[in-house]
Amino acid sequence: MTKVLLKWRGLRIAYGGWLLVCLALTTCAVAADPAEKPGEALYLQLGQVGLDPAQVYRVRGASLDRSAINITLEDGTIAFTKDVLGHITGAFFEGYGEVLLTPPNEVERRSMSLFTGMAILEEHFATAYFRFNDNVADELRPDLRASDSTDFTTRWGPTAQNLASADATRLLMTFSQMLPVNGDPVSSEAAGAKTENGEDRFLHARLQGTKLGVFDVYFDSMAGEPVQAGQAKTREGGGNFYDVWTSFSPTDSETGRLPRSITLSNKEKTREGRVEVRGYKLTTEVQPPKKIHTRARVQLEVREGGPRTLLFELSRFLQVESVKLAGAPVEFIHNPAVEGTQLSRRGNDLLAVILPKPAEADEKIDLEFVYGGEVLAEAGSGLLYVGARGTWYPNRGMAMANFDLEFTYPPDWTLVATGKPMPVAPEALATGLQASHWVSERPIPLAGFNLGKYKVATVSAGDIPVETYAATGVEKDFPTPNIQVVDPQMVDPMIRHRQVIVPSRPSPAHMEVTVGEAAARAVRYFADRFGPYPYSHLSLTQMPGRDSQGWPGLVFLSSYAFLDQQQREQLHLEPYRILMQQSIPAHETAHQWWGDLITWNSYRDQWFSEGLSNYCALMMLQEKNPAGFREIMDKYRRDLVTKEKNGMTPMEAGPVTLGVRLLSSRFPEGYEEILYGRGTWLFHMLRAMMRDAAQQQTGKPVGGTDEPFVRALRRVRERYAGRSLSTAELLSVFAEELPPALRYEGKSSLDWFLHGWVNGTSLPKLELKGVKFASKAGGTAVSGTILQKGAPQDLVTSVPIYAVMAGKQQVLLGRIFADGEESIFRLSAPAGTHKIVLDPNETILTEPK
Ligand SMILES: [Zn+2]
Repeated sequence: MTKVLLKWRGLRIAYGGWLLVCLALTTCAVAADPAEKPGEALYLQLGQVGLDPAQVYRVRGASLDRSAINITLEDGTIAFTKDVLGHITGAFFEGYGEVLLTPPNEVERRSMSLFTGMAILEEHFATAYFRFNDNVADELRPDLRASDSTDFTTRWGPTAQNLASADATRLLMTFSQMLPVNGDPVSSEAAGAKTENGEDRFLHARLQGTKLGVFDVYFDSMAGEPVQAGQAKTREGGGNFYDVWTSFSPTDSETGRLPRSITLSNKEKTREGRVEVRGYKLTTEVQPPKKIHTRARVQLEVREGGPRTLLFELSRFLQVESVKLAGAPVEFIHNPAVEGTQLSRRGNDLLAVILPKPAEADEKIDLEFVYGGEVLAEAGSGLLYVGARGTWYPNRGMAMANFDLEFTYPPDWTLVATGKPMPVAPEALATGLQASHWVSERPIPLAGFNLGKYKVATVSAGDIPVETYAATGVEKDFPTPNIQVVDPQMVDPMIRHRQVIVPSRPSPAHMEVTVGEAAARAVRYFADRFGPYPYSHLSLTQMPGRDSQGWPGLVFLSSYAFLDQQQREQLHLEPYRILMQQSIPAHETAHQWWGDLITWNSYRDQWFSEGLSNYCALMMLQEKNPAGFREIMDKYRRDLVTKEKNGMTPMEAGPVTLGVRLLSSRFPEGYEEILYGRGTWLFHMLRAMMRDAAQQQTGKPVGGTDEPFVRALRRVRERYAGRSLSTAELLSVFAEELPPALRYEGKSSLDWFLHGWVNGTSLPKLELKGVKFASKAGGTAVSGTILQKGAPQDLVTSVPIYAVMAGKQQVLLGRIFADGEESIFRLSAPAGTHKIVLDPNETILTEPK
């Protein structure tokens, strides 16, 4: 269910200055011939540059300001790095300095505070390493004096040189613009002009804080969120994390609330969006158990002119043999100077392609990559899978594109891929291998395949075939439940039915029809509600491990999804977990709509794909098993407030809109607990709220395929199919369905829900106070106060109030906005009402009782 999480992280490294420090590719003293490989020579030079003994100065009272970042070098010594292409790109400082960074809104201040204990970053530092692509050296110059420090570069040179590699890729993006075109040098003024007018400015400060230890501060004008601070952290008991303390766009600084611009297309601003992939043609020979060899033709379209270097994500375990542009070889950089045995630890999954000249607007670029290597892993029982770092084709992130995939593979294997199966070219069959061909039916955000010794079973969801591919066994490290069987050898007249314990190995192939039917039911259920299933068929394939992923038309299902009831009980799984495992096929099927047909816009929007897919699966469960639904929702709620070893509760990890930032050293499970737990609840709240209001308006029960929540989602699908969606856009479609009773302050907007609930973290406590009943013509007038405790002052919550009638029957009187701590209400109730209750059906994510 952790869909393409790792993939996303890799990409931000590539494009956004995001988690850049993870990219500590230690380049050894390897040189490339600048005439033959100017790009690689430049990259290595940028990654190995050392301090210049001729450029050491005393510095006093100098400061660097970049947006919300202010760095002051009060007093100390600074040395600049040697020139690269005539530019100074780094400096090392020792002395007394201070950094000040003020996050622009509550969400970011809370995040900063979680990691540093302060809402505003204000920290002294003793040393600093700076890397930049602009005029930092000139900025500092007025505050520099000659220095007599002779051993400064000896002392700090090796440290500076070690730190240089981290930003080499980012700096290559800038300085490759200055590489010669057709042998003619580009004037550094022409290329430098870009950095002057603020189009491409980058500054990374690696600071040795006096209280906080080593941390990073970034300004990168090319990133969706240019300002960022964070720290690499190893958790006690293991696990390496990069804690993002804050990340934001300077244009958001003025407002106190999380502005919409953050959730609107960040891509517009970054180089990421300047060059788009339109289509892929991937011809792959799979050599089980581990190898692939691929020829990838990638069609790109340049939306805005400029870049000389194009970055792709590609597994470090693949060796690139060649990259060609319109048939002619072009230069590429992919883990140069990293030994094969060091790849998993020190390599990275980025491939840089240096174009012979800067790309121009509207230019179409056809690149051909040839590469091969070991990206498959073998888990036993004829189960292969593309490994954790298995980015098997060069991609520029999740973006809608057409895919044409051809595979050849040995005769005894079965291969399943994204797309529609197509006839195979005759030459592919002549090899004695098997061949298959898959073409996407509409642009899809990503493509994958799976290979195994499967058995297949087909069921159908209307006219959509659902094929399930599973092996007869599970992975080697699958836990072994013990089952009791009657051993015929041991049965004797004296001890009838003597039982022995023998280990049982589940056989997923036996469960194919059950699993396939669960997915088929989900296809029908969601298609009825959200519009047709987007592809012509659905394939489910068994994947080793606990995680499942729903890719377009191809679901990778954890072996755990193939267990039968008895096997689950033998694993001693708690009842809610058994229900969750049973709903995995529905969850992954829901991703076909939420996540695949419609992708998320930025990391701040990814929550809707998980929360909504999860909620859709639970909507199905609720119809069949309301008690089971309640149990899962209650478990989510309790998990959010259950104290961990460090005394903190997962709800403190942050709001759903922090997405993968929730995965931190403080909360290693934060991503799952918030995105699934709180995310699912947010959709439950929206649905219940809209249904109550519609019910009151029409006086009739509302449900099935036409309830307002479902109608809104159908509209989301109609409007955003084939595109990405932001949280604000999603909520504005829901807002269109709001009846007058749900218009806070008279406005048809869910801004209050976005601010308090989506960008909030609290689980408030709701209580009634001072309730009075008065008889009036034809009924009872009820008044009182709703108390909202344990929540921020400005939290707004829509609260349903019910009258308890004779025979314990409960009648919805209406929904009232609890606005802050105390909210007075007046409602009409049926005659004879003398008791009211708040939210008896538990539709609000309140503190558990
Ligand atoms: Zn999921």
